[in-house]
Amino acid sequence: MALIVQKYGGTSVGTPEKIEAVAEKITRMHGEGHQLVVVVSAMSGETNRLLELSAAVHEQPSAREMDVLLSTGEQVTIALLSMALQKRAVEARSYTGQQVHILTNNVHGKARIQKIEADRVQKDLAQGRVVVIAGFQGVDSEGNITTLGRGGSDTTAVAMAAALKADECQIYTDVDGVYTTDPRIVPEAHRLDRITVEEMLEMSSLGTKVLQIRSVEFAGKYKVPLRVLSAFEEGPGTLITYEEKEMEQAQISGIAFNRDEAKLTILGVPDQPGVAFNILGAIADAEVNVDMIVQNVGEDGTTNFTFTVHRSDFKQAQTILQKLARELKAREVSGDDKIVKISVVGVGMRSHAGVASTMFKALADEGINIQMISTSEIKVSVVVDEKYLELGVRALHAAFELDQAVEK
Ligand code: ADP
Ligand code: ASP
Ligand code: MG
Repeated sequence: MALIVQKYGGTSVGTPEKIEAVAEKITRMHGEGHQLVVVVSAMSGETNRLLELSAAVHEQPSAREMDVLLSTGEQVTIALLSMALQKRAVEARSYTGQQVHILTNNVHGKARIQKIEADRVQKDLAQGRVVVIAGFQGVDSEGNITTLGRGGSDTTAVAMAAALKADECQIYTDVDGVYTTDPRIVPEAHRLDRITVEEMLEMSSLGTKVLQIRSVEFAGKYKVPLRVLSAFEEGPGTLITYEEKEMEQAQISGIAFNRDEAKLTILGVPDQPGVAFNILGAIADAEVNVDMIVQNVGEDGTTNFTFTVHRSDFKQAQTILQKLARELKAREVSGDDKIVKISVVGVGMRSHAGVASTMFKALADEGINIQMISTSEIKVSVVVDEKYLELGVRALHAAFELDQAVEK
């Protein structure tokens, strides 16, 4: 008998029929004697529908009311799934994030879980009940409803698993595991049996949506046994591991990409101490996150400074930079919000030289111009024009021979 926390994503509970199928699966596992806590997302499309509704009523709705609105999606699915379980004579109880006391900070829209009081859940489990919890939501110290950011149900599940010291956290979704890259873009992508937590952290932070980054952070911090699986088919899925792979390493394990990128350049800034601080300080004060940064070698006493931001922050960052350019007597500001970032990730990079050159050659062979580059110990990222996203990812997948199923 094991204590298992399961999470079913939006597509897995997207219709009444799918909810029934999930209920069947839970009923079977409960019948085998497992203790089950089930976290669910809103039905697929529902969170976006709620976002559209709010946009129709107010251009800039308050973050507090947005969370009240968005959290309703998950409340629908917990009730429906519990009903479907009860129909199968399984004693089930649904709880919102507030009811299970998932305590968060007060940053609406991207709140962080600070504490989970799991007593109530434990009592239910002890009585043989299946506990069904709304993902993506919590409550702050003043009782306001908060949400955890898109994809946040993953984090609810992993945090619940950590709080309950569960034997395993199973993330059920519409693919049967973590792939070498998004199988929707590269049909030859293959499922990884295992991926190290470090690699998964990079993949998530570089745009791979299969696990929300914060869920992977939680998993790493508390060493939560974590697996990504298909909600519809049986299979081993992908296990997140906490030790280096002993077997021979592939150069890279996966390719991540992010479409939500934009870049800004301030040209002809007087090259003197404090330039980077002046520019990025003003951007940071506006709570805009900066990702890649490049400062060119100065010439004639001036330099060019380029950085990337989330596409939704582009306009705001541009306005700040234009004002700054006047103050700093810079020549001009240019920007491009039609760029994407493609990254290759793998702990194998530590022991293989030449990953970057293989990457650059593969892109050059396709005539893809690289606009920016950044590297870290286990990843290389490039910024390219968004029209090259699919081509670039496919070329890299082939260049690193990821389409040849290798045992990981
Ligand atoms: P859920 O609704 O279950 O939370 P998500 O849409 O958040 O599901 O995540 C699953 C999706 O992530 C898949 O349908 C797939 O298209 C996408 N994806 C992107 N990169 C990968 C990858 N490397 N491996 C698996 N899935 C990926
Ligand atoms: N429903 C939320 C979203 O669409 C949370 C989740 O699915 O994990 O982002
Ligand atoms: Mg998701």
